[in-house]
Amino acid sequence: MSFKKIQGQEKAIETLKGFIKSQRVPPALIFSGPAGIGKATCALEFAKTLNCLDEDSNKNIDNCSLCQNCKHIDAKTHPDIVFADFEYQANLRDEEVEKQQTIRVDTIRHLTALSQQKATMAKWKVFIIDKAEKLQAEGANAMLKFIEEPPANTLWILISSKREAMLSTIKSRCQIINFAPLSGDILLDILKDNMVEEDLAKESLKYAQGSSETALKVSEVLGEFSALTKGPAFAMQAARSLPRTLAQSRPQAACIIDMLTFKTHQTWLEARTEKQKTDLKELLNKLVFYKKALTRNVAPSLVVEAAIISAQQNKIEF
Ligand SMILES: [Zn+2]
Repeated sequence: MSFKKIQGQEKAIETLKGFIKSQRVPPALIFSGPAGIGKATCALEFAKTLNCLDEDSNKNIDNCSLCQNCKHIDAKTHPDIVFADFEYQANLRDEEVEKQQTIRVDTIRHLTALSQQKATMAKWKVFIIDKAEKLQAEGANAMLKFIEEPPANTLWILISSKREAMLSTIKSRCQIINFAPLSGDILLDILKDNMVEEDLAKESLKYAQGSSETALKVSEVLGEFSALTKGPAFAMQAARSLPRTLAQSRPQAACIIDMLTFKTHQTWLEARTEKQKTDLKELLNKLVFYKKALTRNVAPSLVVEAAIISAQQNKIEF
């Protein structure tokens, strides 16, 4: 992997390369754009490019993926490059990943303490925080002075697919790099690379909204659903088809509710009578409620079954 292999983000990559070229890397960046379009990959590639030991790659402002620094960053084992996502936090706290709902102030304090230590083997220390919109006020405050005046060659990258939900105190101190939704052609390529057959891939695109993560998840759901019988038993069968572990069933259930929401919204746009519009609006509200229920202690299979039954009552089906 190198910058060359990231598809559809030429503009963002050009900006990042420009920072290195002009030797003016801002201390804090926000990578903003929908989920599943390559923001995290780009953050890691940027960290590799800043630290690559291969001279030819340095000349081209890219990375080799082969030197010690590149390899450790790819394996997420580099002591100076931290990728702080919910999994990282769960490990720090010795808790389950599913329990992580916000980025805790303790996690931020852990990172800021690391940022003050001397680099072990990197030229640049890079702290990447995933889902930065989940940072609460206390964590943000603990972080402010460190992103404002970091030690030399220290970079913070905050990744978010919901920039509007990020705290303004943080946003105002970071330079924003926008990432674009992926085109249909790029998404089809990615689905093909993941062995999704063509008809299924094309159907999945309708829901993808430029996100490869969504496209892949949707293709998985539609693949499962194609084996089920339509009709009254569908809701129960769909609920049973969810993966066994909570870590996998929860995102899949969320994906199914998002798909129903998308279908409902499309139908609402074409609705002719006021009654139909009111009913569909009510269904949309219910789907919001079901989606929220997933973040609480409710079995995803129950939520999916209820959501599909509500949708079927309004003639919204897969
Ligand atoms: Zn390298």
